[in-house]
Amino acid sequence: TVRENYAEESVDSVCPYCGVGCEVTYHVKDDSILYVEGRNGPANQNRLCVKGRYGTDYSRSPQRLTVPMIRREDAPKGADVQVDPDNPWTHFREASWEEALDKAANGLKTIRDRDGGGALAGFGSAKGTNEEAYLFQKLVRAGFGTNNVDHCTRLCHASSVAAMIENLGTGAVTAPFTDAEKAECMIVIGARPNENHPVASSYMKQAAKKGTKLIVMDPRYNEQLGRYAYANVQFQPGTDVALLNAMLHVIFEEGLEDTQYIQAHVNGVEELREKAKEFPPEKMADHVGVSAETIRDIARTYATAQASIIFWGMGISQHVHGTDNARSLINLSLVTGHMGRPGTGLHPLRGQNNVQGASDVGLIPMVYPDYKPVTNSDFKDYYEDFWGAELDGQAGLTVVEIVNAIHEGRIKGMYIMGENPAMSDPHQSHAREALADLEHLVVQEIFLTETAYQADVILPASSQQEKDGTYTNSNRQVQIGRAAISTPGQARQDWALVQEIANRIGMDWNYTHPRDVFNEMEQVMPSLTNITWERLEREGAVAYPCDDPKSHGNLVIFDEAFYTSDGRGTVRPVDIVPPDEMPDDEYPMILSTGRQLEHWHTGAMTRRSDVLDRIEPEAVCMMHPREMRKQGIQMGDYLRVTTRRGTIEIKVRADRDVPSNMVFIPFCYAEAAANVLTNPQIDPYGKIPEFKYCAAKIERMPME
Ligand code: SF4
Repeated sequence: TVRENYAEESVDSVCPYCGVGCEVTYHVKDDSILYVEGRNGPANQNRLCVKGRYGTDYSRSPQRLTVPMIRREDAPKGADVQVDPDNPWTHFREASWEEALDKAANGLKTIRDRDGGGALAGFGSAKGTNEEAYLFQKLVRAGFGTNNVDHCTRLCHASSVAAMIENLGTGAVTAPFTDAEKAECMIVIGARPNENHPVASSYMKQAAKKGTKLIVMDPRYNEQLGRYAYANVQFQPGTDVALLNAMLHVIFEEGLEDTQYIQAHVNGVEELREKAKEFPPEKMADHVGVSAETIRDIARTYATAQASIIFWGMGISQHVHGTDNARSLINLSLVTGHMGRPGTGLHPLRGQNNVQGASDVGLIPMVYPDYKPVTNSDFKDYYEDFWGAELDGQAGLTVVEIVNAIHEGRIKGMYIMGENPAMSDPHQSHAREALADLEHLVVQEIFLTETAYQADVILPASSQQEKDGTYTNSNRQVQIGRAAISTPGQARQDWALVQEIANRIGMDWNYTHPRDVFNEMEQVMPSLTNITWERLEREGAVAYPCDDPKSHGNLVIFDEAFYTSDGRGTVRPVDIVPPDEMPDDEYPMILSTGRQLEHWHTGAMTRRSDVLDRIEPEAVCMMHPREMRKQGIQMGDYLRVTTRRGTIEIKVRADRDVPSNMVFIPFCYAEAAANVLTNPQIDPYGKIPEFKYCAAKIERMPME
């Protein structure tokens, strides 16, 4: 074709965006990516969505960081100090690599030696490779001497992971999204895969077209996926547990549980049966906003199918009752025996390209690689020996807890690699004040993000298209990504920068390539058994667990036993916990936040991608046209949206999917940042903030 003739080089890699993990080929000329094609990877089978196909030009954005920067002595710090778009560098000066790395490391070392490792913390990234995440958590644990290391899994599926580890012994999916077509019934709840995991949703739509009964359950109606659905169930925001318990009630009342499976594999069913009696659908219908007939029908459909699978997203996890929501889904799956067979199981759709892998390699405060608790002295002894450093035996702080600890003066220095908490954390002014209050902040980034703007030292790093490394997708498939273009200016590889910092604070690391790091990971992570760097180079992808060096790995797990001490799964009675902040006279609306198809997370990459930003160029919120009419609002009006945390001004768009009493705001727009408004209250188990529900008021702004 003309395009092939035009290309000079083709490099096989993976998409930098969502957890689907589509394999791509980058076609490269003059050290830039000309175009991207989908490959026949196990997760995408040649498909790509708009982000994967058109969203890689951010790597060559003129806004890339290309030299190390140090904050000027007289530059102001504070939550209200914003990036000046006309003169973004006003608060920084260029530095040599030696000066920047010395200053970065010395600041961290000074705090560690003076106040102890607990006065430091690190945020790694779910966008980086497994090797970068592993090295980063090793640096924080072995170099800083603390477990205060976390990343954005805390903001997306921490509650799902907490519930799954507690009851199944794994934090990963039990079956892949490609199994949709093997299911007779499929529930998609609290997720909009058509926007956030588009290629995964293509399997779901295909399956539904072939006869799988698709049940879509969400407070926001899902017109796009819903048109393929057997049932499109729009329930009241925050009533997930009531609805799922009502389904359980039907299953027990009508004897639809799988007694043989329960006997062989499940603990706790009698307590659950008693609890479910409190939730007859007829009693719950008004509360959840779904008729008793519908609840009974979807419960029967799910329970009686030969194979049923559940997919969920952040509509389940981002609540103060997020762990309870996930427990409720586990309850449904286990009592009906929909587990361990093709077309059955549980699949929390992972958000970022490597959020699964970053968690697996220990980039979370309570566990070492492969989810080994840091509080277990045997594991602590093992890692002290293996890493040659004294380790902290206390679980570290999570994302929101770290921000609070900065305010309390307990944490004084941070190293942030590729995360943007100034945009992604709830109650933004609180988070930005914390970053500004730090005695020493090192940010390793590819752009001058809102977080980097608060930094004392900025280390210019590598984009996904510029690095070799492995990524683990939502299906547990470990895949290899390859550098297609070089880093711009003086920017360096992230893993090498982590090593530079480590060696400056007293470590003696000598990794020469991400392959060395992967080889070390293999030694400490049984999950990587039979998955070698060489295999990945050759085969592209292998799923874990993999019990045979010739197999592609086990995509469906728990066919015999769970990863628990007695090999059995557990179901748990769950009570209704209301959202932390309910609408009232002053704040009568519900605010919910999330993503859009074209923009990814805080927008750092997609808003610097020409095609994607042209499709969705400006900040918008969404309301139902009926609600807009009621409040005298026209499409395109500007609204002032206020919560107890702050106010933003934003244009409104009519969207029939949004329930009447709700305003929905994507969190990718810095100029109208949704997280100015959100509630930092967290789920007590997963420590995830309640992004999906808080009280808000809206006012139409007068026309100029
Ligand atoms: Fe990339 Fe996800 Fe789109 Fe695939 S579905 S191309 S991984 S953003």
